[in-house]
Amino acid sequence: MKAFVYRGPGKQAVEERPKPQIAAPTDAIVRVTKTTICGTDLHILKGDVPTCSPGRILGHEGVGVVDSVGPGVTVFHPGDRVLISCISACGRCEYCRRGMYSHCTTGGWILGNEIDGTQAEFVRIPHADTSLYRVPEGAEEDALVMLSDILPTGFECGVLNGKVAPGGTVAIVGAGPIGLAALLTTQFYAPAEIIMVDPDQNRLDVARRFGATQTVCAAGAGAGEAVMKLTGGRGVDTAIEAVGVPASFITCEDIVAPGGTIANVGVHGAKVDLHLERLWAQNITITTRLVDTVTTPMLLKTVAAGRIDPKRLITHRFRFDQILDAYETFGHAANTRALKVLIEAQE
Ligand SMILES: [Zn+2]
Ligand SMILES: [Zn+2]
Repeated sequence: MKAFVYRGPGKQAVEERPKPQIAAPTDAIVRVTKTTICGTDLHILKGDVPTCSPGRILGHEGVGVVDSVGPGVTVFHPGDRVLISCISACGRCEYCRRGMYSHCTTGGWILGNEIDGTQAEFVRIPHADTSLYRVPEGAEEDALVMLSDILPTGFECGVLNGKVAPGGTVAIVGAGPIGLAALLTTQFYAPAEIIMVDPDQNRLDVARRFGATQTVCAAGAGAGEAVMKLTGGRGVDTAIEAVGVPASFITCEDIVAPGGTIANVGVHGAKVDLHLERLWAQNITITTRLVDTVTTPMLLKTVAAGRIDPKRLITHRFRFDQILDAYETFGHAANTRALKVLIEAQE
């Protein structure tokens, strides 16, 4: 089969690989019909993710059809259409029993990281019964690809941890796919104001169409000042950090109102200053989280019911044999205006 392979920092290739085999009784082999590229894949290609070794097939998002299952798989059968979660979960370890699938002792975020991922014709899914979701009858599979990672990540790490509440004021710093996923799902809770912050005007125009009430086209100190001005000097109840660089986290520190929450979503590779000399008396909460995908069943229902339409995040489409072009387009998002690129198998 063909697969997209990380070959070490700055190196990548489409390679011919053997089709994966069942390695444990709880495994399933899935034929990937649709996948996408995540910002995290670009981090890996830069060499920022030490757990991912050269030779790894990338990708942790996708939908597909079950090809074969091990004898321990009871929920899924060959031919079933499935959504692949970015998080693999055994369902039995202490962390899984607490709903923290991201810290599963034999799973977590391993797909396209510590084991081969979804940017291939076939993928081996460990703990298949508790790591796959059945595609609902009549569901639009393009939209479901957004449920492997970005929708639950924006919702769990941003909206739920950020305690978004009716009438509240929310700022989302970063209008990339994850920030926009947080924007879509924050509206479940009817906040009064949703302020989107990003230096890219095109992404802010998209955010307006997705429901942002205000936009701030800036980054760094100017962004914080603009948000404070928009909120009459009060700040925001929820500041969602959806970039993963020090400046955007500091913007959140600058704009969080007394009693508010900073919900970090971004993947940080550098240390950030925590201004406790200002924040110690502000009754704030700072949260961090790796997505657990515990809300995936709920999100599947909201998409099926038409409450949200994550398909709107897809800006470009490629066939699998064009995956190098897909990376090129996604990697130059400021010029190509890419949000999510959908990569489809030739049926
Ligand atoms: Zn991802
Ligand atoms: Zn577990």
